Amino acid sequence: MSGNTVRRQAIRDVEAYTPPAVSFAGTEAPGEIFGENVFSRIVMQKRLPKSVYKSVISTIEHGAALDPLVADAVASAMKDWALEKGATHYAHVFYPLTGLTAEKHDSFFEPVGDGTALAEFAGKTLVQGEPDASSFPNGGLRNTFEARGYTGWDVTSPAYVLENPNGNTLCIPTVFVSMTGEALDHKTPLLRSQQAMGAHAERILKLFGHTNPGNIVSFCGPEQEYFLVDRHFFLARPDLMNSGRTLFGSKPPKGQEFDDHYFGAIPERVLGFMMDTERELFKLGIPAKTRHNEVAPGQFEIAPMFERGNIAADHQQLLMTTFKTIAKKHGMECLFHEKPFQGVNGSGKHVNFSLGNSALGSLLVPGDNPHDNAQFLVFCAAVIRAVHRYAGLLRASVASATNDHRLGANEAPPAIISIFLGDQLADVFEQIASGPATSSKGKGHMTIGVDTLPVLPTDPGDRNRTSPFAFTGNRFEFRAPGSMQTVSGPMVTINTILAESLDHIATELENAVASGTDFDEAVQTLLTEIITQHGAIVFNGDGYADAWPIEAEKRGLANLKTTLDALPELITPEALALFEKYRVFNHREMHSRYEIGLEQYALTIGVEARLTLEMGTTVVLPAAVRHQTEIAQNVAALKAAGLEPDLGPLEEASAPLAALRSALAGLRSALAADTGHSALGEAQHAAAALLPAMSAVRSAADALEELVADDLWPLPTYQEMLFVL
Ligand code: ADP
Ligand code: MG
Repeated sequence: MSGNTVRRQAIRDVEAYTPPAVSFAGTEAPGEIFGENVFSRIVMQKRLPKSVYKSVISTIEHGAALDPLVADAVASAMKDWALEKGATHYAHVFYPLTGLTAEKHDSFFEPVGDGTALAEFAGKTLVQGEPDASSFPNGGLRNTFEARGYTGWDVTSPAYVLENPNGNTLCIPTVFVSMTGEALDHKTPLLRSQQAMGAHAERILKLFGHTNPGNIVSFCGPEQEYFLVDRHFFLARPDLMNSGRTLFGSKPPKGQEFDDHYFGAIPERVLGFMMDTERELFKLGIPAKTRHNEVAPGQFEIAPMFERGNIAADHQQLLMTTFKTIAKKHGMECLFHEKPFQGVNGSGKHVNFSLGNSALGSLLVPGDNPHDNAQFLVFCAAVIRAVHRYAGLLRASVASATNDHRLGANEAPPAIISIFLGDQLADVFEQIASGPATSSKGKGHMTIGVDTLPVLPTDPGDRNRTSPFAFTGNRFEFRAPGSMQTVSGPMVTINTILAESLDHIATELENAVASGTDFDEAVQTLLTEIITQHGAIVFNGDGYADAWPIEAEKRGLANLKTTLDALPELITPEALALFEKYRVFNHREMHSRYEIGLEQYALTIGVEARLTLEMGTTVVLPAAVRHQTEIAQNVAALKAAGLEPDLGPLEEASAPLAALRSALAGLRSALAADTGHSALGEAQHAAAALLPAMSAVRSAADALEELVADDLWPLPTYQEMLFVL
C-alpha cells in the first residue's frame, strides 16, 4: 500500500503483525489455578494460628471490629506466603476519586548493618500506610499543608500477589482517608454504606422470624463492555491515546446495521486475548464467566460472577488493569471509554445488585409465587421506594463527561431513571395497590413445532433492554453506569438509599407490631402504601420511545440529561441529610464529591478541546491543504496545457477547509476565555463553549475525511480501526 502517512504505515504494520500464541491452551484445567495468587481463606486457615484465623473470619463474616493484636500474626504469615510467591515488594492499593487505582509500593527488604537485607513486614505496616495524598483530588477536604493521607487495610477484601516480569508485588486492598478520617476514595463510603444497609435489612429479617439472620451485605455482578483495537492504529491516533476516544472520524459505510457482530464468532486473536485474561483473572481469584461479542464491531463483554460489593469493586478495578496490560501483549489496546467512536454503539457497565448473605442467598428471589412471598415483596418494595425517592442521586452517581455521550442516546438507557419489573411482578404490585395480591402469572412455555425439540419454559419476567433499573429474576440491574466508572459510586448510592427505605419499613413494621397490629396486616398496609406513593417509578414500556419523556414528566420523574444537570443532586438538603444520617458521607465529604465531579468534568473536556485544536491544526489541516494544493496544481497544469479546467473540485476542497479554519479559530478563542477559575465556572464553560466549538471542528474535519485523497489522509479511519482485528 502506497503513501507515507502515519496511517499508511500503521496499516502496513497491522498487516505484518503476528499475535503471540497462547502457550498454555489446553494444558490446564481452570480449577487448578483459581485463586493461586490470593491470600485466601484456605491459605489463611493453613498458615494462621487457629485463634488468629477465627478472629479474622469473624471480622469478614460478621463485621466484627478487627482485633489489633491479630494484625502482627497475619502480617507475618502474609509476608512468608508472598515471599514464596516471589514477591519483593508490597503495596497498599487504593481507589482515589480519579476513578483509577493507585498503589504505593515499598520493598519488603530492609538493609541491616552487615550489608544484607532482612524481610520486614509488621502488623502496623499491613494495617496502615501513609502515601502522600497531595496528588489526588480531594475537593477541598485537605489543605496543602496537611498533605498527609492514610491507607487502611480492608480485611474483607483478600490480599493478592500481582505478577510482573520485574518482580512480584503483594497487593493489599485499602481505604484512603485524610488525616481527619474523611474519605478521599471510593472504598470507604462503600464499606460504610454496606454496613448501614445491612443493619436495617437485618431488622426486617428479624421481623420475618429470622432470629439470627447474620451479616447482610450487598452483592454486585458487574458486566463490563469494552472495545479492542489494533495497537498500531491506536498509536496513530493521538486522540485515542490521550482522551480515550476519537475526536475525529466519519462513520464507516458498513456500521453495526448488519447485526453480524453480536454473538458472532469471536476473532481468533481476540479469543487468544480472552484466554490469557481469564487465566490471569482466575489466578487472582476473579470469577470471570461469560464472554461474547457486543453490538458494535470490535466490542466485547465480560461478566464476572457476582461477589460481595466491595470485593466486586476491587476485582472490577483489577480486571480493567489486567485487560489493559494483556491487550498490549496481544498487540491491541483495550478501550474502556463510554463512547470511543461517535455514531457507533457505546460501552456501559451494568451493575447487577442484590442483598443477602451466604446462608440466606439473595433476598430478591421471588420464588414461583411472588404474590405469596411477603418477605421478597417487602425488599422489592424497599428498592422501588428508594429508587423513586432518590432517582436524582442514582443519576448523579453515574454522571461524567464521558458517560454523557452515552446516556440518553438511543443505545443506552435514557437519562430518566425508572424501574422495569417485568409482567409478573408488575401485575403483583398492581394487585397490591388495591388490596392483597392473590395470584402470580405463572411461567409460560413455548412450543416450537418440532416434536423432537423440548418444550422451552419462558420467563414470567420478560427482558427489557431499555430500562435503566431492571428487575432480572433475582436481582436488580442498574444499566446506566459507564464502562470506565468504578462500580463503587453506584453501589454506595444504592446501598444508602436502600438503607433509608429499609429503615423506614423496619420502623413502620416494628411500631405496628408494638401497637398490637397483626404482622401480616401491617405488611399489607405498608406495601399498598409504598406502591401507591412510589409506583410512578415503575415503567415496563419502551424507554426509547418519544412518548416516554413526555409521560415521565407527567409522572414527575426527572430527566437529568447531562452531568451538569445531575451533579447538583449531590448537595440538595435531602441528599446531605440522607448521607449524614446513615454515616456514609458528612456534609464536607458530599461537597467535596460534588466539587470533584465538576473538576473532573471540566478537566476531561479541557483535555479533549486542546487535543481537538492540536490535531485539527497539525494533522487534519495540513492534509486538507495538501489535497487542495494537488488539485490547484492540476488546475494550473491543465491551464498550461491549453485545456479548460473544471474548477468544481477546487471549490469543493476549499469550502470545508475554510470551515475548518474558522472552527479552529473559534475553539482557540473558547479555550482562551477567562472562566473565573471556580470549578462550577469551568465546568459550565466546558459545556457551553468548549463542547460546541469542538463539535464544529469535528464536522468540518469529518467532511474533509470524505473528500481528501485517501493516500493523504493521516488518521486511521473508523473502518480500519473497527474491522481489522
Ligand atoms: P445478562 O447479559 O443477561 O445481563 P450476564 O450473564 O451477562 O447476564 O450477567 C449477569 C451478571 O449478573 C453476572 O455478573 C452475574 O454474576 C450477576 N448476578 C447474577 N445473580 C446475581 C445476584 N443475585 N446478585 C448480583 N448479581 C448477580
Ligand atoms: Mg446485563
